[in-house]
Amino acid sequence: NAFELYERHVNPGLAGLLRFTGLDKVESHAEGVYVWDTEGKRYLDFLGLYGTLSLGHRHPRVVQAVKDQLDKMPMSVRVMVSEPTARLAARLAEVAPGPLEMVFFSNSGTEAVEAALKFARFYTGKPGFITTQNGYHGKTLGALSVTPKERYQHPARPLVPGVTVVPFGDAQAVEAALGPDTAAVIVEPIQGEGGIRVPPEGYLRELRRITREKGVLLIADEVQTGLGRSGKLWAVNWEGVEPDILVSAKALGGGVMPIGATLCRPEILQIYKTEPLIHSTTFGGNPLACAAGLAALEVTLEQDLPGRALEQGQYLIGSLQQLWNTYPEFIQEVRGRGLMVGLEFTDADIGGLVVAELATRGVLTAFGLNDPKVVRLEPPLIVEKSHIDECVAALDQALAATKV
Ligand code: PMP
Repeated sequence: NAFELYERHVNPGLAGLLRFTGLDKVESHAEGVYVWDTEGKRYLDFLGLYGTLSLGHRHPRVVQAVKDQLDKMPMSVRVMVSEPTARLAARLAEVAPGPLEMVFFSNSGTEAVEAALKFARFYTGKPGFITTQNGYHGKTLGALSVTPKERYQHPARPLVPGVTVVPFGDAQAVEAALGPDTAAVIVEPIQGEGGIRVPPEGYLRELRRITREKGVLLIADEVQTGLGRSGKLWAVNWEGVEPDILVSAKALGGGVMPIGATLCRPEILQIYKTEPLIHSTTFGGNPLACAAGLAALEVTLEQDLPGRALEQGQYLIGSLQQLWNTYPEFIQEVRGRGLMVGLEFTDADIGGLVVAELATRGVLTAFGLNDPKVVRLEPPLIVEKSHIDECVAALDQALAATKV
């Protein structure tokens, strides 16, 4: 059985966690907001691959675009230009917040963050970064160095030096931490893995003002918030902020292909004129992933998925607030923006039990990687109100079961 093979050959600890949550299952197929396991049980997917599945599973237009590309040329030879790569870069530049005209493609959010950190050093010639408490940017050495979670950082030390950690949501702390060696400030416009934390109004604008004044780059990590999830195409749009570098991934491949992108102001990548191979990857920007990206972006814009995320998110948050009134001893807070919604429990054990109870009832969720007290709800942006009702009813039952 594939579960046992996974447990033995891939990750026994994670398999143990899955057992605990009753998800010691093998997935079979998926469509839209639903997933089926090999025993035929259906699940409502309110995790959405950690905020990746904006268009749901197997969106037909993205699947078709990938099939078409698969029949033509799935992999680039890399010594010629691939059309989907060039077109997706141009399209992203058009919809970017500000003049982010150059795009470096990679295969994941983490790689896109790594590129952003290196580009900031290339451009400024400085080594330092400022990051936020509970921020999440990935787990390779560079990305981990700006992901201040002791549990993950400690066994990997020494990390990349020059990182200062400040509280999230506190622009003054950033101002105080800026020094002559600071290359960039990296921030999620809304923290995802840190427990769905929306910063105070004006935070991003303040960061922009401070970094601009000091000649420091502002890197917006929109891996999770981007492409509509927050209720705007980019979460920085909420404050009209134009970062110097924007990092995207997750939803960028339409839930069909893995892809990451680092969007930069053109001057930041001037180095390519003299050192065209200073940062490169074999698979980054491959035609299949970019064909998926082009189709996904068109669907997102045509169907106004950001607007939909906002509307459905308000409905979801409203429904959860009613549950909060019913179970104040378990739920500490309901928060979020768009379809990035967090349910903070009074302790992490309750959160774990609720995730398990929900799984039994056929609803998939998970807690924040950097804050296990918070169960995050990040369904596809195409979710219907009836799906939200289904999730909230299951949550009600799950909480009632936890109470006993
Ligand atoms: N940045 C943010 C804000 C993220 O949420 C994540 C993933 N949860 C990453 C970076 C890393 O992306 P990936 O898992 O695709 O490498």
